[in-house]
Amino acid sequence: MRPECPYRHIHPHTASGNRKIVRLGSYRRKSDGRRVKRFRCNECGKGFSHATRSACYKQNKRHLNDRFRKLFASGISQRRLARLFSVSRTTVVRKHLFLASQSRGKVQRTETTEPVFEIVEFDDLETFEHTKFKPLSVFLAVEYKTRRVIDLEVARMPAKGKLSARALKKYGPREDERPAARRRLFERIQSRVSSVAIFKSDMNPHYPLDLKRAFPHAEHRRFKGRRGCIVGQGELKRGGFDPLFSFNHTAAMFRANVNRLFRRTWNTTKRPDRLADHLMIYAHYHNSTLI
Ligand SMILES: [Zn+2]
Repeated sequence: MRPECPYRHIHPHTASGNRKIVRLGSYRRKSDGRRVKRFRCNECGKGFSHATRSACYKQNKRHLNDRFRKLFASGISQRRLARLFSVSRTTVVRKHLFLASQSRGKVQRTETTEPVFEIVEFDDLETFEHTKFKPLSVFLAVEYKTRRVIDLEVARMPAKGKLSARALKKYGPREDERPAARRRLFERIQSRVSSVAIFKSDMNPHYPLDLKRAFPHAEHRRFKGRRGCIVGQGELKRGGFDPLFSFNHTAAMFRANVNRLFRRTWNTTKRPDRLADHLMIYAHYHNSTLI
């Protein structure tokens, strides 16, 4: 099949469709040995191939993508992956970035054929970057029952309680990015969640206003809850009826499968944006395979 010229949006093309595309042989791709067809556009004179517009264009280790995606979502560390597959840590980092952007696109999108979300549970789970003096908050929205991850945001926050004085002394003031992150998330999911949806959360005093901005007609049900602990499966520990079960179960799954959330001292997150990347890879795997 003859594709359309990938450059037709860059240079204006007068011919419609693919009328001026000619075959130009093929080449054998080094990274996986596949034959890739080449074409030329006689209107702009540019050459291209079936690979040009592929998401994996110019990747040398495309065969690892799927395995890496599963393993990143299964608690394997980046170092261990590099060792197991005899690739450099640079390759692992590149794969992490690539898979995160792919996963983010999948998680943050609802197909046009799918219904909008009607019941949403949201809350934040806490972790930290590198030291407990620099806590992070993961703001997470989950669909009730199916436990599908709708979206998430990672935000810096100042240390609380007994830690706050020492944290201030050691690292200086730390901005609270949580309000902005909450608003970003609510705005982003506006088109995918029913405007009269039911939102469930704990009693956090900041939630009602932030939610009202993006969803003025939604119903907000608030429940008395307990805080999750930083490491372990705190969200799930207590028995009895849990009004935020879908959220808490999902949070526990994150903690069980994203290695940066396992422990206080080993492979902790050094960068909040990379934590967000990692959570997105897990979230996509969770949505597409686990639930
Ligand atoms: Zn062209």
